[in-house]
Amino acid sequence: MSVLRASGLSLVLLMTALVAAPQAQTPAPAPAAAPTPPPFATTKVEGTDGVYIFRFGGHQSMFVVTKDGVIATDPIGLRRPAAKAYIDEIRKITQAPIKYVIYSHSHYDHIAGGQPFKDIGATFIAHNNAKKRLEQLKPADVVIPDQGIGNSRTIRLGGTVLELHYVGKNHSDNTLVMRLPKEKIIFTVDWIPLQAVQFRGMADTYLPDTQEGLKKVIAMDWDRMISGHPGPGGRQTGTKEDAKNVLAYLDDLSAAVKKEVDAGKSYDDAMKGIKLPKYESYGGYNAFLPMNIERLFDFHNRGI
Ligand SMILES: [Zn+2]
Repeated sequence: MSVLRASGLSLVLLMTALVAAPQAQTPAPAPAAAPTPPPFATTKVEGTDGVYIFRFGGHQSMFVVTKDGVIATDPIGLRRPAAKAYIDEIRKITQAPIKYVIYSHSHYDHIAGGQPFKDIGATFIAHNNAKKRLEQLKPADVVIPDQGIGNSRTIRLGGTVLELHYVGKNHSDNTLVMRLPKEKIIFTVDWIPLQAVQFRGMADTYLPDTQEGLKKVIAMDWDRMISGHPGPGGRQTGTKEDAKNVLAYLDDLSAAVKKEVDAGKSYDDAMKGIKLPKYESYGGYNAFLPMNIERLFDFHNRGI
């Protein structure tokens, strides 16, 4: 903990120095670009006893420290040494054994690179469909889960309760919603982005199941959501408002695309013509909106 506090304080001092120094000596410098964040960092979730977010680059993973051991989640180590950094960060907080690694879903950018956790004895858990998919594809750098789960499982460790829920298909057919009932925190990845449109062409995304799943998650009891990627300004957690906004975005996009399909327009017409100004401040709006439109066009035009 002292290490985390010290590095946070150092960052504040450094930023103060960077901002203050030129102002003292030179008139009105051009505004500096935002400081580049360190390659990885660990943040304790405010108001909790042992809930942390490990961020490596633009990926995030939740871990929970209890007196009897640690529950880690996505190793986020695709072609980068994130798992070693992750374990080192945990070891700055506790020497308790890392008992579990739980996969949010089967996509490699979130789950590759977990071998260092396996080497120290962690049990890997994922949804049954993720386990099957990984056993089929055998990606070189992904630890195959030891255990698969169906619709739910509750993990109890050192007085902490962590529920694993499957709410149906969404951004994959194996996405888990992890919920800490006491802390009222959920961790779920990629399908409920913070102030962002959906990623690229929404590969592996099931429609309209995603919207149905969002309604189930919104109905659950929680206050804060740790997302798989930070939002604008490096924001690491969201609220139900964020989940409701994602549902509204998908509903608005779906309605706009359906109108074009019903009017006999082409893919190109829809991809070029549809604008959703309400969401233009969202991450990925310019780059990904046309691809999101193409995905919804397939759904309304062909039922896929
Ligand atoms: Zn994903």
